[in-house]
Amino acid sequence: MKQIYLDHASTTPVRPEVVGAMLPYFTEQFGNPSSIYPLGQDASDAVADARAVLAGIIGAAPREVYFTSGGTESDNWAIKGFARANASKGRHIVTSAIEHHAVLHTCEALEKEGFEVTYVPVDEHGLVRPEDFAAAMRPDTILASIMFANNEIGTIEPVAELAAIAHEHGVVFHTDAVQAFAHEPIDVKAMGIDMLSASSHKIYGPKGVGLLYIRKGVKVQNFIDGGQQERGRRGSTENVPGIVGFAKAAELAQADMGPERDRQRELRDHAIRRILDEIPSAKLNGSWESRLANNVNFSFEFIEGEGMLLQLAARGICVSSGSACTSGSLDPSHVLLAIGLPHEIAHGSLRMTLGRDTTREDVDFAIDSLKTTLANLRMMSPLYEDFQQGKVASVIEQLKADGFPYAN
Ligand code: PLP
Repeated sequence: MKQIYLDHASTTPVRPEVVGAMLPYFTEQFGNPSSIYPLGQDASDAVADARAVLAGIIGAAPREVYFTSGGTESDNWAIKGFARANASKGRHIVTSAIEHHAVLHTCEALEKEGFEVTYVPVDEHGLVRPEDFAAAMRPDTILASIMFANNEIGTIEPVAELAAIAHEHGVVFHTDAVQAFAHEPIDVKAMGIDMLSASSHKIYGPKGVGLLYIRKGVKVQNFIDGGQQERGRRGSTENVPGIVGFAKAAELAQADMGPERDRQRELRDHAIRRILDEIPSAKLNGSWESRLANNVNFSFEFIEGEGMLLQLAARGICVSSGSACTSGSLDPSHVLLAIGLPHEIAHGSLRMTLGRDTTREDVDFAIDSLKTTLANLRMMSPLYEDFQQGKVASVIEQLKADGFPYAN
């Protein structure tokens, strides 16, 4: 059976050119970058070249880019490292309610160390309102961390505007750009970003490698004490093949970022329109205007997300749900709750994230399968029967009556 992979926000396949660039660094070019003989120096040069490429993509200086093991480590380093190094100036941090757990759990860990954290709410589209963000600033605020784009609903935050507000209050601004790096144009200097996290496996690079940009002058504690790697701030022998692959993937993404983004955006809009036109009791989650080009996220009423995913998986379609049920918890996603979805429809949510290899046929096949799946599930649902007989009210009908535009 053909697999249709529509879960690129989760991870991406490594591009063949990336594998090709990495391979020599496992075998003949296996040297340790800290060694002074040529084999080591070649590896050291490869790491330096990769750093320059990645820095260039976000308008940073190479010295401001540090390699890590991925997005989670970068978020931990930025937030814990900054908070601990600057605790004498204040112990308050501002973040949003819809951050990835790499940020949220890091902030919770800091709360246990005596820091205070404000979790700014978002609007119905998942956007942080600048006025709420400004209102969260206090005299003892030292750091704000707001994601560039949300991994579940794809909403792109007004990062430059938020960074400017943070700076007006003398607050350093970090962004988790794991979903946006090399997908969206980013210029850290023009946007006022002081620290930025990115990850290789979201951009068709290998897993287990990421970066943290730390603007020159921003004081952050070292993350791993050890050798002199990463200018003494993050010890451990460099993951040379991973770093080389990360840079190659970023370079390739950068080369056709505009056209590929336009292509995916068109497919995304086709998918959103088809679902809104053809599937009843459906609601688009996240902003349509300020949205990652590859993200489609819907809630469907009167079904269970888990049943939907299993039936789609049986048809070869790989997508993810908006609730954490599949990972053993019954709680719906904190992101869907933060945009105001009631529990019952947050449970019936679906995320499809398109990629470089996704075709219009793939999208159409997935939506045809989704239509059949939902019809089957609803046929078996006593609640749906009650709804059709007018015995229960629909949350989505109410949303539409209240003027929400992207629902059917
Ligand atoms: N932040 C966001 C927004 C993400 O989407 C992810 C991965 O899903 C991460 C952080 C964690 O990145 P990594 O898997 O590289 O640790």
